Amino acid sequence: MKILVINAGSSSLKYQLIETDTNEVLAKGLCERIGIDGKLNHKTAKGELKGADVPMKNHADAIKAVIESITSPEYGCISSLSEIDAVGHRVVHGSETFSGSVRITDAVMKSLDECSELAPLHNPPNIVGINACKEVMGESIPQVGVFDTAFHQTMPKKAYLYGLPYEYYEKYKVRKFGFHGTSHRYVSARAAAMLGKDPSELKIITCHLGNGSSIAAVDGGVSVDTTMGFTPLEGLVMGTRSGSMDPAIVTFLMEKEGLDTAGVNNVLNKKSGVLGVSGVSSDFRDLEAAFAEGNERAGLAIEMFAYQVKKYIGSFAAAMGGVDAVVFTAGVGENSASMRAKCVEGLEFMGIKIDPEKNNTRGKEADISTDDARVRTLVIPTNEELMIALDTKEIIGK
Ligand code: ADP
Repeated sequence: MKILVINAGSSSLKYQLIETDTNEVLAKGLCERIGIDGKLNHKTAKGELKGADVPMKNHADAIKAVIESITSPEYGCISSLSEIDAVGHRVVHGSETFSGSVRITDAVMKSLDECSELAPLHNPPNIVGINACKEVMGESIPQVGVFDTAFHQTMPKKAYLYGLPYEYYEKYKVRKFGFHGTSHRYVSARAAAMLGKDPSELKIITCHLGNGSSIAAVDGGVSVDTTMGFTPLEGLVMGTRSGSMDPAIVTFLMEKEGLDTAGVNNVLNKKSGVLGVSGVSSDFRDLEAAFAEGNERAGLAIEMFAYQVKKYIGSFAAAMGGVDAVVFTAGVGENSASMRAKCVEGLEFMGIKIDPEKNNTRGKEADISTDDARVRTLVIPTNEELMIALDTKEIIGK
């Protein structure tokens, strides 16, 4: 089956065409500057376009550009639109309404609109992407929504509720939702496959460490806790996001710095994290390079990040009453051997012990634990697009 996977942002749209019989990526690309002028990057086995000027006044134009590229005789991979069996969309927020992927219907579109209040920056562009596909591809090609929050809907109430007046949960759904669910689900399932066990037998801690980072506790194949919360700001210190801190700091800073809600949101989301601490960069490669040249604050930011990852590994092991495997994924987790080593340093008492030579790997699946380690430490490249394609195939097959 050929599934088109779409991840629509406010001015960009990422896509992959995946053959689910072989899990092969037939085409992938990125539309940028939608609504401004329009740039297209597109790649198949046949050919490639880099930064091509393609006018895109809206997302429908972007989808038209995608279809033209994948059906192009020169650099395409299929001969006509009718070869696409379905479209799978990444949707950030599914609130409590969606605990799994769904086929998009009018009723689902209405619920998605209602979820937008909880993710005002992310859900509206996802919805625009779905509407653009319907407009350009017609109603006959089924569309499926796959949610970042869905995998975490299995968290028990004691894990997802905040210590706030209960009425805020009832009135506004103020609770932990968790994000990166598609990634945590994919890597935890891969971990079970790598270990030759059924997911129901395993307690796994999945560390998605990228620009945005989150950790999940996956017990028996389901998420029982995660670090991100009501929004993707909670939990670990990230590239530019503060992560968890004393909530009283918010009002303190608003008073001291004369910030309004937009101003303080901007500080917490865009100017904090390892960028804010180091004053150097949000990119861990830059931080590692700056630290190697003697920049102390870059070193401090790296130490803070690793320390927090380690604390969550410990707390999630406690929450689950044990751990069988720790998984590292996403940009930092897949690529940085030194960061992985720092995150698990001193955890030998828990049975977590990595082999420096095996840890000297990047971007591919590997078991980096020592032979005698009780807990397996794994590197697993995430593949949210494949997960979306496989979900889409399953849903339309029903
Ligand atoms: P996003 O959250 O944007 O999807 P990614 O998962 O792609 O992020 O991760 C991006 C981050 O991965 C970059 O900010 C960079 O810091 C980090 N990264 C990529 N390669 C390396 C590397 N070799 N060493 C350290 N960090 C890396």
